[in-house]
This record gives sequence, C-alpha cells and structure tokens, in this order.
Amino acid sequence: MSGTSERGKPKILVTDPISEEGLKRLREFAEVDIALRLGEGELAEKIRDYDALIVRSGTQVTRKIIEAGRKLKVIGRAGVGVDNIDVEAATEYGVLVINAPEANTISAAEHTVALLLSLARKIPQANKSLKAGEWDRRKYMGVEVRGKTLGIIGLGRIGAEVARMALGLGMKVVAYDPYVSQERAKELGVSLLPFDEVLKAADFLTVHVPLTDETYHMISDREFEMMKDGVRIINTARGGVIDEAALVRAIKSGKVAGAAIDVFEKEPPRDNELLKLEEVIVTPHLGASTEEAQRSVAVVIAEEVQRALRGEPVKNAVNLVYVPAEILDAIRPFLTLAERLGKFTAQIISGRIESVDISYQGEVATKDTRLIGIAMLKGFLSQFADVNYVNAQLIARKMGIRVTETKTEDAENFSSLIGITVKTDNVERTVAGTVFGKNDLRIVKIDGYRVDAVPSGYMLICSYIDKPRVIGPVGVILGDHGINIAAMQVGREKIGGRAVMVLNVDNPVSEDVLEKVKTVDGISDVKLVKL
Ligand code: NAD
Repeated sequence: MSGTSERGKPKILVTDPISEEGLKRLREFAEVDIALRLGEGELAEKIRDYDALIVRSGTQVTRKIIEAGRKLKVIGRAGVGVDNIDVEAATEYGVLVINAPEANTISAAEHTVALLLSLARKIPQANKSLKAGEWDRRKYMGVEVRGKTLGIIGLGRIGAEVARMALGLGMKVVAYDPYVSQERAKELGVSLLPFDEVLKAADFLTVHVPLTDETYHMISDREFEMMKDGVRIINTARGGVIDEAALVRAIKSGKVAGAAIDVFEKEPPRDNELLKLEEVIVTPHLGASTEEAQRSVAVVIAEEVQRALRGEPVKNAVNLVYVPAEILDAIRPFLTLAERLGKFTAQIISGRIESVDISYQGEVATKDTRLIGIAMLKGFLSQFADVNYVNAQLIARKMGIRVTETKTEDAENFSSLIGITVKTDNVERTVAGTVFGKNDLRIVKIDGYRVDAVPSGYMLICSYIDKPRVIGPVGVILGDHGINIAAMQVGREKIGGRAVMVLNVDNPVSEDVLEKVKTVDGISDVKLVKL
C-alpha cells in the first residue's frame, strides 16, 4: 500500500476523542496518533503524513485540510452527521468519507421510548416538583401507553426499532414512509398508511426522518390541526423536522398535550419558547449518548477504515454508492472487466474526448450497475488523471466529458455484455466484453468486429484491410524483434473488408517496432495497449 509508515502500517490521525476500544482496533493494523483540539492550520500541517483521519463532530474537516492531506485516502466519522466534513472537497480529491449510522440505532430508539414513557407519566415534571419540596400526586396523573396508537414518521433504522419496542409495550403502530415497502412494514407488524392518516390516528407521534428539504417543517400548523386532541409528540430525529413555533402554538392551544424533544432547530437552544412550557420535556441531544453507542461507533469506524485502506468495499460510504455485499460478489468480475475495458479504450483513441457511453446488455443490465459504470470510468480516466472510485464521475464532469448509460435486454448470444463507446473530436471507438464462467474475462467486440481476446498484459490492436500478406508480415516483424505472440485474434466485417487484429504479446513493443508494423501494406492503424 502506498503512503504507509516505514513499517508498512498505515498512519491514522484521530482528532476527536473516541472510545478506547476503537483505538485498540485501530492500533491492531495502523500507527495511530491522537491530537485533539488542533486549529485548521495545525491540522493542515499535520495531516500530510496520514492515510486516514478519524473525527467525531468536534473537528471541522475543511477543504484546506483535505487539500493538504496528500496521502489522505479516507475520513472516518465516528457517528452519523457529516456536516463538519467538506464532503464535496473530499470527493474532488478522491478521499472516501465513511460514517457509522447503524451503531447509534438502539441507543436512539431506547431514548425515544424513554421519552415516550416520560411523556406519558410526566416523570421529569414530577421529579422536578418533588425535589422542589412539593408532593403533588394529582397534578402528575399520567396515561398508559398500552393500547394507544403510536404514529411513526420515517420507518428506517431507528423508526423500525422504535416500532419493535412500542409493539412490545402493547401499542398499535402505524407509520408513514414512502420509501419503505409494505412487506417490510408487515414484517415489523406495522401498518403503513398515508401521511395524513398517520397524523389522524396517532395518540403519540414520533419522527425518525433525516432533515432534508422535503422533511423540513413537515410537521407544522396544518399537520397539528389534523391530529387528535391531546396528542403527544416526540422528536429525537433532527430539529427542523417539526416546526418549533407551530408546536408552541399547538401546545398553548391545548391541541398537543405534551412534547418530548431531544433535538432543536438551533443547538444549544437559546430563548427557545419550548423550554418555557411545562408540557415540554427536553434532553440535550442525548439520543446517541450511551457508552455502548460510543464504543460501537468507534469500533465500527475502525473496522470500516481498515477495510477502506485495504481497498475493500465499505458499508457506509457517504460519497460512494452503496452496493450490498451479496450484490457486490455477483458483479465483482464485471467490475474488473469494466475497468479493463475502460483502460483499453482509453489507449486506442486519439483526440479530445467528447463523450463516453456505457452499455449494459442482457442479465447484467438487470442488476445494480452503478458501480460497474464507475469502474469503467475509473479505468478509462486513469490514463489521463489521478482517479479512483470516489472521484471518477466528478473528474469526468470536470473534464467536460458527457457520460451516458444504456441498458438493453438483448445481449447478442451472450448472457451479459458490457461496453464502452468513446467519441472524440476525431474518432469513435466501441469495445465490449463479457465474463465467461465465473471469472474468465473477454473482449468480444472491437468497433463492431467480433473478437475473443483476453484483456490483460500487453496487447497490440491493428486495424487493417482483410487480404493475404498482412497477418504474416506483422508476425515476422514482431518475431524479428524478439516479441513473443501469446495469442492472436482477428475479426472482419466481410472478406476483403475492414478488419481488426488483436495480439496478446509477452513483451512491451517499442515505438520503432510499432512504426514498422504500420508500414505493412493494408494496415491503417496500430495501437499498443497495456492493461
Ligand atoms: P434511516 O436513514 O435509517 O431512516 C430514515 C427513514 O426516513 C428512511 O426509511 C427514509 O425512507 C425515511 N424518509 C426519508 N424521507 C422521508 C419523508 N419525506 N417522509 C417519510 N419518511 C421519509 O435513519 P435513522 O438511522 O433511522 O435515523 C433517523 C433520524 O434520527 C435521522 O434524522 C438521524 O439524524 C437521527 N438521529 C438522531 C440521534 C440523536 O442523537 N438524537 C441519533 C441517531 C440518529
């Protein structure tokens, strides 16, 4: 691995406190330095030597820092939110950003249920009152949750866990999540309903959506208006999902009986009306604040950073498409093939690149092909730029290359075909390949001519007119220069028409020899490819 310490271990810099267990995991494979509370300039200076940076929310990972991190390959966020990381700059520099969103799930769900019960039984208010010397049993009369309906907005990781726990408490659970299937909801024992129906049905309503343009203030005056009188509201997701001002109005009007809030539009909240209301109970963003969650995020991020540094797929890459492990296994040979086809094509074109079309035919077209496309671009662009899986698409865009994809069912007698067509200001070339058996990669078409070539090592690609005394002289020239031919393939449009010859050779071919091959009568173009 490049950019490692002298002892061959990668170097990792940790700039926010993470759990001892996480550090222990990191030290098993890396040289780890901890430097807390660094200023931007100090960190930019220090980052130069490191392969990976691990942060929580305390470190601002700015463009300047990412630019300075010449060896930097991965930034790990021990937690969920990556708003303290300039993900765009990281992508531009090909630095993978990973987080650990699952490690918090149980803690956030338990905190939600703790707030649900606290809200039902007014525990925080009663606690405060008793400690203030009062003994008021009537004022803190509560309600049971069993038999009540819990409305969940957002049935993702945390929402689903909250559903499971609420069902355990004997609650009825209804949910709204346009991106979750009925089967998944059924599996959880939850009724998936339209948004308004969930609002109308809920005795308790809890939100578990990310904060996006779509979810910003998704619970506001109109929504409170539709709810049952005496509804209770919980927000452990993100401040801003619930319109705080509207919630204050709904509580003051008596529509909402109580609210439990862990997250605020502005944190820490200042002069926030919610904090002044007796019906509102609050915690200072404690959803993920458990020993277990903190340990778990650190261990998960350590393992993920290790995978990323080894070049293995990671589960939670913020700036790379996620493909589940089982699908990745199925498409892995196509990733290698795609990369080689891209690299191959880059070496047989000339001129200013205008567009790249990536095609998927047959069975492969029915799969999640996003990563295959990125692999193809990565291979293609690697001839012109420093590129990796993270920045391939961005670099293509910056080079002004139009990238399109086409998918067709028909794969012309193959079970699957993937292809690349590159247009430049003076040529257009198409190369397609397939995988035979498990892992037998082949180039099967070049510019429409059928060939059967193994894409590896040194290859000589000759365009010529099909006639006698072309192939022989090419072989002789190579032989005269001590170049051994390992395999040879020809493809032609018709007898006497245009043809292409692909030779796998055991040694590099010098410019001189290429020039000699070009002089053979009938040969119109010769390109040497190295894969
Ligand atoms: P997740 O991505 O697993 O689930 C989010 C769900 O919301 C998904 O199922 C998605 O389909 C759904 N969704 C997205 N847009 C929607 C919309 N417009 N309407 C309805 N549903 C929509 O995320 P998660 O891990 O369950 O986290 C949920 C929230 O909890 C996030 O906002 C996260 O930031 C927050 N969180 C808070 C704490 C805390 O400390 N309080 C800790 C962890 C996570």
